[in-house]
Amino acid sequence: MDSQHIAARARQHTERLRTMEQRAVAQATQPLATAIADAQSAALTRWVRETVGQRIPDRLAELVDWVRNLLRRAFHGQGVQAQAAAERAAFAAAHNAVQQASQLAATMSGQPTPPITPEPGPDAQAAADTIPTAVEEEHGHALALLTTAALTATGLAGLTAVFKRARRAVGRISRAVATAVGSAAAHGARLVTRALGGGTRLLWVAEPDACAACRASAGRHIRPGGMFPGGLSLDPRRTLFPTPIPGPPRHPHCRCVLIPWSATWPISGTPLPTLLRQQARTNRRP
Ligand SMILES: [Zn+2]
Repeated sequence: MDSQHIAARARQHTERLRTMEQRAVAQATQPLATAIADAQSAALTRWVRETVGQRIPDRLAELVDWVRNLLRRAFHGQGVQAQAAAERAAFAAAHNAVQQASQLAATMSGQPTPPITPEPGPDAQAAADTIPTAVEEEHGHALALLTTAALTATGLAGLTAVFKRARRAVGRISRAVATAVGSAAAHGARLVTRALGGGTRLLWVAEPDACAACRASAGRHIRPGGMFPGGLSLDPRRTLFPTPIPGPPRHPHCRCVLIPWSATWPISGTPLPTLLRQQARTNRRP
């Protein structure tokens, strides 16, 4: 088997991860995004109805209480629901990664890969577990902006700012779900690599339009349980991410992947780590 062919298949793993991540993020964020949009629309309707000319509504305190309740209903149970969605997505990502890594390892080594039970792993679980608190934090920040004083001073812009702040919770869910999915995928590849044993290593495959830090990791390999170095970057102007990590995601929405690899496998052509390194330095999406 030629290393070019392996590299192309490994790149497909990053494409698949991107698709899985995007679908998971959409599913996990949609309920809260919709609830906030509905609450904002209801609040705006009432604000307009109670505003005469440019004046602030007379019964402002009552309106503020009513909007508070709207927000409370919009956020109710959302963190826990999104956490469950993240956990489901992480499990699916681990399952998919185990399948892909097993098939690719079998292709490279010419040997069947032992059966593996997929697990999302501790990093994916930790990412999912941050969601309820993150959502409640943003809910709290939004409520803090919702005061009669703020609305008296800034009017409709103040009301809009409350909902804009509330929507940050959607961004927090999105980042946590992406991290859970990426971590679970890396863990799946790690489980396969461990099971293969015999000095099999974990090789970093950068997604085609990866950032400078991720492209600098492409083609690097570690033993399972090891760490990829921090402080790498192809952009000499700045070094991001000083911390060593056990694998992708290097940052939220990083779709780099790990694949098992051994120097003893009969792969022809440019050595796979060298090829991945070269491709990360030259193959960039426009
Ligand atoms: Zn990356």
